[in-house]
Amino acid sequence: MELWITEWQTKNLGLTCRVKEALFTGRSEFQEVVVVDTDEFGRMLVLDGVFQTSIFDEFVYHEMIAHVPLFTHPNPKNVLVIGGGDGGTIREVVKHPSVERAEMVEIDGLVVEVCKKYLPEISEALINNHPKVHLKIDDGIKHMKEAENFYDVIIVDCSDPIGPGEGLFTYEFYKDVYKALKADGLFVQQTESPFFHQPLVKRLWKDISSLFPITRMYLAQIPLYPGGTHCFTIGSKQYDPLNVDTAKLPKLNTRYYNRDIQKSCFVLPNFIQELLK
Ligand code: SAM
Repeated sequence: MELWITEWQTKNLGLTCRVKEALFTGRSEFQEVVVVDTDEFGRMLVLDGVFQTSIFDEFVYHEMIAHVPLFTHPNPKNVLVIGGGDGGTIREVVKHPSVERAEMVEIDGLVVEVCKKYLPEISEALINNHPKVHLKIDDGIKHMKEAENFYDVIIVDCSDPIGPGEGLFTYEFYKDVYKALKADGLFVQQTESPFFHQPLVKRLWKDISSLFPITRMYLAQIPLYPGGTHCFTIGSKQYDPLNVDTAKLPKLNTRYYNRDIQKSCFVLPNFIQELLK
C-alpha cells in the first residue's frame, strides 16, 4: 500500500508527497517528530505535520538565513541561533572566519538527535562537535529574557507560530532580543510566506520596526514552503543591509547565496511593499 504525507499549508491547500520510506516517528514533550524519505524532496523533517526542511532544498533556507545577516555585520563574533534543531543554520554560521562562538538554543533535544541520525548532511557541525558550536537544549524565549548586551547577531530559525514556537513571534520576545544584542547588533527571523501569511508578516514588520531603527525584509525561493517564496525580516541597531559593500565580501562555498544575491534579495515586489506600508 502506498503511503503519502500532506502538509496543510492553509485550511484549503496541501502539499502532498509520496513517501518512499518512513524512517522515524516519535513524540517529544513538545511535538510529534517525523522523518520520511520522498521522491522529490528526499529525506525530510516534519514537526507536528509541518514540513521543516528537506535534503533537496535545505541549502537555500540555511544559507540565506545565515549569510545575509552575518555579512551585514562587519565583524560578527558572538552568534546565537534560536531553534534550528536540524543543525543547518549553525553549519553555515561556522563557515564565517570572524565567528568565535556559535551558540544554538533549541527547545527539543529529540529533534537534534533524530536529525543527527537521519539528516547527517544537515547536522554535520553538530555531529562533528565543531569547536565553535555550543548547543543548549532550552527554551529560546527564556534564554532571551536572561541575556543582555552580548550577541552580535541573533538568528531566529524557528518553526511556525504554533506550539513551542508561538512566543517567538511576539513584541515581548523582540524586546528581549533587542536587549540581548550589543549596541551595534542585529537579528533575523524567518517570517513565513508573503503570499499566504500576510497578516502575520504585517504584524511582525510593525513590531520589529517599532523597536529597531533599521528593519529590512528579504526573499528566497524555497519549494518546500508555502507559496515557494519565503521572507526573512532583519531588525538592526546600526548596520543597514542595503549598505553592504558586496565587492569586499569573502567567497564562501555556497549553492544559492552569492554576493549579488546579498543585495538583490532585498528587492521587494510591489504587493509586498504595499503590505509593509
Ligand atoms: N527551517 C524551518 C522552517 O522554517 O520551518 C525551521 C527549522 S528548525 C527544525 C525549527 C526549530 O525551532 C524546531 O526544531 C523547534 O523545536 C524549534 N523551536 C520551536 N520553539 C522554540 C523555542 N521556544 N525555543 C527554542 N527552539 C524552538
